[in-house]
Amino acid sequence: MHLSLHGSSSHTRIGEAAATAAEAKTQVYQIATTVRMFEDELARHALVIQTLLRICAKKGLFADAEFLKLLEEVDLEDGVRDGKKKKSKSPKTCDKCGKNARATALTCIYCGAEFPTKNPI
Ligand SMILES: [Zn+2]
Repeated sequence: MHLSLHGSSSHTRIGEAAATAAEAKTQVYQIATTVRMFEDELARHALVIQTLLRICAKKGLFADAEFLKLLEEVDLEDGVRDGKKKKSKSPKTCDKCGKNARATALTCIYCGAEFPTKNPI
C-alpha cells in the first residue's frame, strides 16, 4: 500500500515536471520568434539607412566628418552618449543650458550643472 502511494506521488511529480518543461519549451519558442521578428526589422532598417547614406554620398550632400558630428549630436539628445537613440521615459532638461539629460542624472553632461535632487519627504 505504501509503495503504491509513493509510486503515485512520484508519477504526479514527473507529470508536473513534464508540464513545466512543455510550458518552458513553448515560451522559448515564442521568445525565439520575437527575436527573429526584431532581427528582420533591424535588417530592414539597416537596408533603408544604408541606401539613404549611399544616396547622400553619391550626391555629395555631406562629408563623413560632418555626418559623425551630427550623429554624436543626435546621440546626445536622449541625454546619454552611448551610440544609441533611445526614447527616454522623461529626460530632465537642464535649467542652465536647456539640453536634455537622462532622468537619473545628477549633473548635466553638457555644462556640469547639478540637478536638484528630489526631497524624499
Ligand atoms: Zn546643462
